[in-house]
Amino acid sequence: MHTLSLAALAACLAKREFSSVELTRHCLDRIDRLDGHLNSFITISRDSALAQAAAADQRIRDGRAGPLTGIPYANKDIFCTAGILTSCGSKMLANFIAPYDATVVTRLAEAGMVMVGKTNMDEFAMGSSNETSHYGTVRNPRNTEYVPGGSTGGSAAAVAARLVPAATGTDTGGSIRQPAALCGVSGLKPTYGRVSRWGMIAYASSLDQGGPIAGDAEDLALLLNAMAGHDPRDGTSVRREDEDFTRLLAGDLRGMRFGVPREFFTDGLDASVAARIEAAFADLTRLGAERVDISLPNMRHAIPAYYVIAPAECSSNLARYDGVRFGHRCAAPRDLEDLYRRSRAEGFGTEVKRRILVGTYVLSHGYYDAYYLRAQRVRRLISEDFRRAFEQVDFIAGPTTPDTAFRFGEKSSDPVAMYLCDVYTTAVNLAGLPALSLPAGRAGNGLPTGLQLIGRPFDEARLLQAAHQFQQQTTWHRDVPQLPL
Ligand code: GLN
Repeated sequence: MHTLSLAALAACLAKREFSSVELTRHCLDRIDRLDGHLNSFITISRDSALAQAAAADQRIRDGRAGPLTGIPYANKDIFCTAGILTSCGSKMLANFIAPYDATVVTRLAEAGMVMVGKTNMDEFAMGSSNETSHYGTVRNPRNTEYVPGGSTGGSAAAVAARLVPAATGTDTGGSIRQPAALCGVSGLKPTYGRVSRWGMIAYASSLDQGGPIAGDAEDLALLLNAMAGHDPRDGTSVRREDEDFTRLLAGDLRGMRFGVPREFFTDGLDASVAARIEAAFADLTRLGAERVDISLPNMRHAIPAYYVIAPAECSSNLARYDGVRFGHRCAAPRDLEDLYRRSRAEGFGTEVKRRILVGTYVLSHGYYDAYYLRAQRVRRLISEDFRRAFEQVDFIAGPTTPDTAFRFGEKSSDPVAMYLCDVYTTAVNLAGLPALSLPAGRAGNGLPTGLQLIGRPFDEARLLQAAHQFQQQTTWHRDVPQLPL
């Protein structure tokens, strides 16, 4: 059961080959058996999952099922879930039970999906390796000596290990695409504003966007159908006609043009990853798409600009964790100042503190113009680069990451090395564009690589079409790791 796609699972549920309760139990059993080692979950919501599955079975019997009804999934622990711990991977929120569901959670529940639990993540979604979680590191199911990527490492690992067929993630600078690439699964970061951020704990509000992780592009389209849509409770949620993101999947790629930015193929790119990506370009060409070499000249400024803007916004967003309203509070504070100081010192981990310090610095009087304002100008230049490129091409293709998964500890003492994991992903967030990562075969070390496709704003349907067609031509997305471990 666990190797089937969402579309195949839905067909089996409709034909009563198995029930949602049976399927949910199967996932819970796999989690029990395998997750002690992988650590991809922070919370398992067994009882509520079985109740949701029973309700889904009733809905199927009543003929009221949608395409996702009865299918188990997991939420990144950044999405608020009423009555169930939402920790954001932090000691700061280790006691936080939200009184409401995030809009994404509500929408997936309305579609009839069954939430089996909350997945592990880097603390407050800051990281590229899942080594900053208060709940311990997540192991990559492809090789458990290696990181799964971050910050959505728990969701990517859980889907890769087929503990669940789908999961949610958030992507501020690459956190859906990078772990999807490193674990060998498919992940989509929608256009900024497409998916509601309400109830999604804020890291960097102008960059954060929720999206799905699943086995293949068709599954991503089905999930996006349920997740996307205007939400009056999110001021940056975009008002658009509802659309069916599966509608273009069957269309071939003849006449389409894909741009290959020369800036993606520089020294930092591992040669065996580059070889896989070149092979993927050949697949796209065989499908009838035309390759066009392009340039995104300001790409090299994306990491510095991102690592000014994201910390600036995080320093402001994380000011609310003061030990008073919610979250961790230190024991026996002497006075208010001591309460703030010790609650924050105890509640946040090192990387989060580093970002708050950097963010406060770049926003401070005298440095604001030199850093923050300049980074915002660079952001505009990067958007312009993409806009010009999209005058020539329908989508952009390249690697998701410069390298495959790395070993635990390999980059954790060098923040800059860690930040460079995002060299191909952050520009997309700065420009607010949709992008996805697809399995593109194994690199020289046997670990998965990811092909990144980037689209015009709100062009997810076409991006998913290209992705689906690529997966009709390739089998990398069916390369499931050998488990039990
Ligand atoms: N790795 C990047 C960071 O640490 C991106 C994280 C994310 O997308 N949430 O900020």
